[in-house]
Amino acid sequence: MKKYLIGLSIFSVLLSCKVGKSDSDEISVVEFTEDSAAYDEYIDESYDDFEGDLVGLEDEVTVRGIYNPSRTLITDLIHTKLEINFNWEKSQLNGKATITAKQHFHASDSLILDAKGMEIKKVEMGGKSVSYSYNDSLKLRIKLDKKYNRDEKFIVSIEYVAKPEERQTSGSAAITSDKGLYFINPKNEKNGNMPQIWTQGETEANSVWFPTIDAPNSKSTQEMYITVQDKYATLSNGKLVSSKKNADGTRTDCWKQDLPHAPYLFMMAVGEFKVVKDTYTRPDGSKMEVNYYVEPEYEQNAKAIFGETPAMIKFFSQKLGVEYPWDKYSQIVVRDYVSGAMENTGAVIFGEYVYKNDRELLDGNDQSTIAHELFHHWFGDLVTCESWANLPLNESFANYSQYLWDEYRFGLDEADYQAEQEANGYYESGMYQGYHNLIWYAHNDKEEMFDGHSYNKGGRILHMLRNYLGDEAFFKGLNNYLVTNKFKTAEVHNLRMAFEEVSGEDLNWFFDQWFLGKGHPIIHTTQTVNKENNTVTVGIKQRQKTDDFPIYKIPTNVAIWDANGKRIEKITIDSIEQSFTFSFSGELKNVLFDADQVLLAKYYEDKPANQFIHQYYNSNRYRSKMTAMKRASKMKSDASEKMVFDAMNDTFWDIRLNAISLFENVKNKLADQGLNRIKDMASNDTKPQVREAAINYLKTLPVSEATALFKKIIEIDKSYLVISSALQALMEVNPDDAVIVARNLEKDNNKNINVVLAEVYGQKGEAEENKFFEKQINEGKLKGYDELRMVIAYAVYIMRMDIDLQEKSHAIFTLLNEKGGSSLKMYLSRIIEYNMNTYREKVNELELEIAQLEEAKAFGQADDKKRIKQRYEDLINNLSTLVSPVESGF
Ligand SMILES: [Zn+2]
Repeated sequence: MKKYLIGLSIFSVLLSCKVGKSDSDEISVVEFTEDSAAYDEYIDESYDDFEGDLVGLEDEVTVRGIYNPSRTLITDLIHTKLEINFNWEKSQLNGKATITAKQHFHASDSLILDAKGMEIKKVEMGGKSVSYSYNDSLKLRIKLDKKYNRDEKFIVSIEYVAKPEERQTSGSAAITSDKGLYFINPKNEKNGNMPQIWTQGETEANSVWFPTIDAPNSKSTQEMYITVQDKYATLSNGKLVSSKKNADGTRTDCWKQDLPHAPYLFMMAVGEFKVVKDTYTRPDGSKMEVNYYVEPEYEQNAKAIFGETPAMIKFFSQKLGVEYPWDKYSQIVVRDYVSGAMENTGAVIFGEYVYKNDRELLDGNDQSTIAHELFHHWFGDLVTCESWANLPLNESFANYSQYLWDEYRFGLDEADYQAEQEANGYYESGMYQGYHNLIWYAHNDKEEMFDGHSYNKGGRILHMLRNYLGDEAFFKGLNNYLVTNKFKTAEVHNLRMAFEEVSGEDLNWFFDQWFLGKGHPIIHTTQTVNKENNTVTVGIKQRQKTDDFPIYKIPTNVAIWDANGKRIEKITIDSIEQSFTFSFSGELKNVLFDADQVLLAKYYEDKPANQFIHQYYNSNRYRSKMTAMKRASKMKSDASEKMVFDAMNDTFWDIRLNAISLFENVKNKLADQGLNRIKDMASNDTKPQVREAAINYLKTLPVSEATALFKKIIEIDKSYLVISSALQALMEVNPDDAVIVARNLEKDNNKNINVVLAEVYGQKGEAEENKFFEKQINEGKLKGYDELRMVIAYAVYIMRMDIDLQEKSHAIFTLLNEKGGSSLKMYLSRIIEYNMNTYREKVNELELEIAQLEEAKAFGQADDKKRIKQRYEDLINNLSTLVSPVESGF
């Protein structure tokens, strides 16, 4: 599964916008600073930050005595046949499950299935009813017609109704709901929302819509007969083996998968999807279907969104030495999805955020997520974690596949850059949620496993293992793990043993500290140069609190640059404090710890600034260059100015982007040249994110120059990100012009732009802009954080308008209260409350005015004011019905 989270940094932004205060400036400043927040965490910017990291680790100590084992195998599933149709009116599924199974070891006349919140109609064996109990609506306990031993198969059929809407749901950070089966706009009441049905099984929610043994260490082959109205397309796992029209005008599709997989991977989706066909050619020349299921509106974009999929299947198959094991590969995009994406075998679901047109794809694609879900088809679907505590055996690999794909497709810098983002995600998750062992037997709830450890940290650990073993042994080890455990389940020791078998080396030390331990090293290095004998001694201290975190064994490389150029020294750190002495010739130019920049560690190298400047020009990894820039630019010198200036021309975009913000620190002799370069970058850099950074820098230009530049960019740039940034920048320097430009941009009707238009109108819009807000809110195309931003902008806007328009806001807020997304609903009460406070102030003002008018005997005017005051009081009353009594908090 791929998480789709609103990051913690966004919450801090929301907190800082203080919705509910009646200060219009505060509420309107809602800037999307996800990247910049992460950016500060990037590297050890200063020793203060480094000390801060120590505190983070020291404070998070928890002791638990819980152990979550894998599910005990009593009965083994063999085959699951489902025959299903739908009651769209009631959001229910009518099903018949025919389950072939056998007892795992002990003979028994009992079969216990997970079946959540169903109505059970009938349970039969060989056409005869058998008795069952289902008192808790969770476990269906069936008494078989006799005692079966482990060599005997038996078949049980169950007729049932699944009622997902009647289930109390919970969920997790990765999956916001566990209803299992979802009916979206089933009665076709919402305009523009295509009615659809889809499922989400992980972790144990598929047993809401079919009875099964809903555990990751249970596997079954599958056959699914889905009956729908003929206009609907269906999708499930395996192959579509038949499609028959029925006498009543419906159609029954049969999907069959002969290879076993875990119940949480079963899926089905129904809707008027268009199927865009693509093909993967296997090494033997045979063709495999690769299909993209999208809504008609996105039919022409499907290949631009998903078109790299066949190349990915080929790349991963080759890399792993295990050919893609399943029948087909389909990807479907659904509405109101409860996660980011899900690796249902051969039938992957994505949330609607992947819908992007060609211009939107300029600002970023979703290939990482596509790769992630695809890689699960080996790690997760073929070899499955035997328990949720072992979830990193699924998610760490899927996470690491993003690195592999980036490295192959976009180059090492891009891969390393993304890896840094992932590492920061882990550090952030540790900081806010604490540290735990990666293989986390002591979790409180299985949903907690879907965190920055299982994904981000696991991916970084695999990268270190690859670096340690070398590519050949690493990928051979993965191959061995897959071949040994295919169609079975695994725990972390299976992975270790697969690598040990290939490499010949005992790897307990690595697995103990990284997979079975918690935390990460915090390393402080120093340098002592002895000029008499030309040696440098590198002192290394591990600073993590060793009561709770391991003393790490860290085999790593040190790069040394001297008069002879660069050389690599291999060292192994295995104590809390150690030193290593190296010789050098001529001038010592730089000593770089962790030469390949792969360690998941916070480290601070105490060394002269000139070594960092050398490092920028001579080290070849993203992280070492970034560290060099940030550390060297702390010092104002000609050399650091030149370095940052040169970095604005770096081949890698994120180095250029950071050079722009660092330039302010160091600019001196090259100030004019630097400014000219940034102006050039704002219009011409190949990467939209760099153009955006340049635009933000250039807000300090004189107003007329900035206005002209930003208008020009808005006119010619194709990137929505850049246009939005330029409009936001224009709003800051020249609000009057920004409104005029904004009105022009409405015709694009692009969701990325519309958010910014809303914010411009929030502060500067006039009465005519009410139509814009009404349209946006009625169409409901903005989702999640975008929807929240837009509604905040509307709240700011409407309180500047007159009572006629303000009265209309009641209908708008009522609609949002009913149909707004979950992010919005967290804040909607406070937003409305904020408007009500403004109206209360208005009432007070009017009272004063009325009193003054009455004193002046201007009774006619006073009566007019009274009528308006009454209208405000009515509006406050009406709005108050929408405010929930409990303040939503964090
Ligand atoms: Zn995943």
